[in-house]
Amino acid sequence: MIIVVKPGTREEELEPIRKMLISKGIIIQDIVGETTRMMGMAGDTSVISPDSIICYPFVEKIIRVQTPYKLAGRKFHPADTVVNVSGRKLGGGHFAVIAGPCSVESEEQVLSVAREVKAAGAVFLRGGAFKPRTSPYVFRGLGMDGLELLKAARKETGLPIVTEILSSEYLDAFAADVDIIQIGARNMQNFTLLRQVGELNKPVLLKRGLSSTVEDLLMAAEHVMAGGAHDVILCERGIRTFETSTRNTLDLSAVPVLKEKSHLPVVIDPSHATGFRELVEPMSLAATAAGCDGLIIEVHGQPEAALCDGAQSVTPPMFANLMVKVEKIRKALI
Ligand code: PEP
Ligand code: MN
Repeated sequence: MIIVVKPGTREEELEPIRKMLISKGIIIQDIVGETTRMMGMAGDTSVISPDSIICYPFVEKIIRVQTPYKLAGRKFHPADTVVNVSGRKLGGGHFAVIAGPCSVESEEQVLSVAREVKAAGAVFLRGGAFKPRTSPYVFRGLGMDGLELLKAARKETGLPIVTEILSSEYLDAFAADVDIIQIGARNMQNFTLLRQVGELNKPVLLKRGLSSTVEDLLMAAEHVMAGGAHDVILCERGIRTFETSTRNTLDLSAVPVLKEKSHLPVVIDPSHATGFRELVEPMSLAATAAGCDGLIIEVHGQPEAALCDGAQSVTPPMFANLMVKVEKIRKALI
């Protein structure tokens, strides 16, 4: 971090900030030019809040040199993180597809989708038991009963389960029964929940917030990892833009950007990113070509009857077809 000092500042005016920085173990390097004076800081600057530095009247601006995400960043952890759930790997060259319904609706629905996505090559089963819905008057998930149905589907198919936690009330149940805990876009900055989930030290699928930057996402991952978790999967699921022809705008460039900045695996959710099932395949192929580590795709046996997100859910045959094409893209990349 570099502090640019306003012209005309006297040396004694800098004393309080010097004392404060030294007390926090920071080494100060002064850079004095003809018209500009700067204070370079070396050491663990993550303990310094730029908000408090900017309060000093002589500070013109602060230039950040290091990234504030030390655990999620690649700098101190150059090797790719590989998430391994009962031998099913994601990241570090292991491409994996997570598929299943938006929400768990019934035993028959989740079991039949689980069987079909497994047959098509998915290695994890997704399904929401607790659903974050914009309207309080629509289906909000089966709750704990939904979790039981996911467990039954895992028992039959062997697919590890990925499902979203909405509230800390269910931390114990998720710790006991869920293989990968999803934190949804709407909770990406629920810092208390991030920390509590991180403390469970289980794999986490962290979705990018609706209006969050890549750095916001990495800082959210940092909160989870500061709690103790190591295996965080970053998920780009589309962001809000002025474009209305799709539900969200898929930020595909987030894939190489995240992979450059972080060692964590990156998956793309073409379902929530686009909102339309016809767009799920082309965006899955594009995401694969862009180098993501996996995909998370909504699949429903009868999308028109789905209780949530039917318009963006592909049918099992569509999913199987898409998987064949994804494999072709992957082969072409090798
Ligand atoms: C979901 O995966 O079903 C979901 C609600 O996703 P998001 O948090 O990305 O909207
Ligand atoms: Mn959904």
